[in-house]
Amino acid sequence: TVKTLGYISHFVFVFITFPTLLQALFTASKMGVFDLLQRKPGLDAAQVAQEIKAAVKGTEGLLGACVSLGLLQSKEKFYKNTDLATRYLWSDSPFSLHGYIQHCNETLWPLFSHLESAVREGTNQHERAFGKKANDLFQDTYYNNQSVKLRFMNAMHSIAKVTGKAVATAFDLSSYKTACDLGGCTGAIAYELTKAHPEMSVTVFDLPEVVEMSEHFHPSHTDNRVSFVAGDFFKDELPKADLYILARILHDWPDEKVHILLKKIGDACTPGCAVLLAETMLDGQTAYSALQGLNMLAQTEGMERTESQYADLLSKHGFGDTRVVRTMNFLDAFLAVKM
Ligand code: SAM
Repeated sequence: TVKTLGYISHFVFVFITFPTLLQALFTASKMGVFDLLQRKPGLDAAQVAQEIKAAVKGTEGLLGACVSLGLLQSKEKFYKNTDLATRYLWSDSPFSLHGYIQHCNETLWPLFSHLESAVREGTNQHERAFGKKANDLFQDTYYNNQSVKLRFMNAMHSIAKVTGKAVATAFDLSSYKTACDLGGCTGAIAYELTKAHPEMSVTVFDLPEVVEMSEHFHPSHTDNRVSFVAGDFFKDELPKADLYILARILHDWPDEKVHILLKKIGDACTPGCAVLLAETMLDGQTAYSALQGLNMLAQTEGMERTESQYADLLSKHGFGDTRVVRTMNFLDAFLAVKM
């Protein structure tokens, strides 16, 4: 009984505080609280309020909530970031989730307010949430406005920076010298791959709207083993490579479109070439994979899939000898070889 009561009170606590908890994080991040306190640790609430152009009463409430969540420390009413905030919330940190937090606030939160409709209809909710019908999620929703595009790319970049190393090092890829990261966005995973595999060069292939921003994300890059090519992976010829990477690509699309893409990859591959998937595999066990499945329902035309669903899709295009590594770092890695 004591255990059950403990469980109930924990559940009630999470349930009651959850919207406030998330909104406190989103708001502090959007108003630049963590960036400010990284630059100027030890400010009091009035000083923070002045810098972020907010009311002292509101700022006190927000800072107090951040302290209670372990994001800030307060000593005699002076505030500074905790190690957690320095690592993940300060926007210039190498592992910053700032971009993804903004995406959650501006895009996912409105989409999830229509989750009931998503469940009833089995479709994403962009039209309800943003009043626009999207034939192509990327070109019609994210890329027809410069600031929305940058926000989306920042979100992808931040998750790829946190997970890229685990994906890049999951398998021995030393026999692959040329890779093509299809839908490779900012190149974050490509740079992790060249870091982990000194002999490998990687072509990032993405839509022109994305490729034109590549300098923005790597202004001082010196690694000439990473290059960018603009194109549409459903329509255009794919760059030649002996390893094709699909990181969080297949989960965006329904099976019909996945088959179009996998057929093109299968046709471009000779025996021994491979496909490396980075996806959250549905496993029926972890909350993260189940919740990520719901996330894809509300956001995309696609879905998260199980390991055997991916193996089945790939086998129809001549890929076998599949191996999976559960990285325990959001994205699992899945390798399949062209037979
Ligand atoms: N692979 C990156 C990662 O894991 O961080 C980005 C994943 S993001 C969910 C999907 C990517 O696919 C975006 O960069 C998007 O621009 C790209 N994409 C969508 N449709 C595409 C198309 N038809 N041709 C090429 N790239 C496309």
